[in-house]
Amino acid sequence: MFDQFNRRINYLRISVTDRCNLRCTYCMPEEGIVQIPHNQVLTFEEIVEIARIAVQHGFEKVRITGGEPLVRKGIVDLVRMLKTVEGITDLGLTTNGTLLKQFAQPLYDAGLKRINVSLDTLDPQKYKAITRVGSLSDVLEGLEEAKKVGFNPIKLNCVVENNSNEPDAQAVKAFANSNGFIARFIPKMNLDDGVFGVVEGGEGGDCSTCNRLRLTADGILKPCLFSDKGYNVRELGIQQAIEMAIKNKPACGVANRSGEFYNIGG
Ligand code: SAM
Ligand code: SF4
Repeated sequence: MFDQFNRRINYLRISVTDRCNLRCTYCMPEEGIVQIPHNQVLTFEEIVEIARIAVQHGFEKVRITGGEPLVRKGIVDLVRMLKTVEGITDLGLTTNGTLLKQFAQPLYDAGLKRINVSLDTLDPQKYKAITRVGSLSDVLEGLEEAKKVGFNPIKLNCVVENNSNEPDAQAVKAFANSNGFIARFIPKMNLDDGVFGVVEGGEGGDCSTCNRLRLTADGILKPCLFSDKGYNVRELGIQQAIEMAIKNKPACGVANRSGEFYNIGG
């Protein structure tokens, strides 16, 4: 479906949980996180039904995200279920990679072939400082396993202050090049203040070509990361929520005071 600015909306990002095993400084507060009650989180059946109806509206690309998608119980089953939806030509998943060593093979066997792993630095101390609780070696082992298992492409999402000239980003770029991974650099954004920028080496951040809708773990379809607008699939029905989200997708984002990266999915 095209929106009112003639953009073809064909990419659905599905947040399967707002929970995360890390606490990245730019994404989550250290404490005082308000979590979606378990009974409000979309079931796998609901997610698959939404994907199915989205395909009927012209969606082709689906990305599973979060929070951390690999902490959602049964995530491998969800991948398997989404693979049965005819018309999804591109299924991907974005993860912090800390649990990838354990999950790479089952995810691949369930039909996932593309994966994005967040990696901002190759310095273990800095990694710990950014994520508050994470261990860089877990991510590196996860990446090694993903490569061994055959994921292709493996992309690295690297958050930068300004651009990829920064030393940590340069190290990530060199690491990507030597391993056959693709690095993308995401300028640090601030939803409240509407500070966002274009992703270097990838899509995103350019409103004129934005082709996305985002689904939160509790079933709100968001037409734009930088807007408070949202359409509840359970209240409106899936079809109407999709149509309203597309129809009301703003030309350009301004600010979002009602959500955070971890509950909208980045
Ligand atoms: N937990 C998974 C991960 O970290 O990859 C998936 C969800 S996370 C919200 C998705 C992406 O959003 C990650 O690549 C993360 O680096 C990015 N992100 C989170 N907060 C951000 C911010 N303030 N500015 C730019 N990117 C951000
Ligand atoms: Fe968790 Fe990803 Fe947010 Fe980091 S960026 S806190 S890993 S959801």
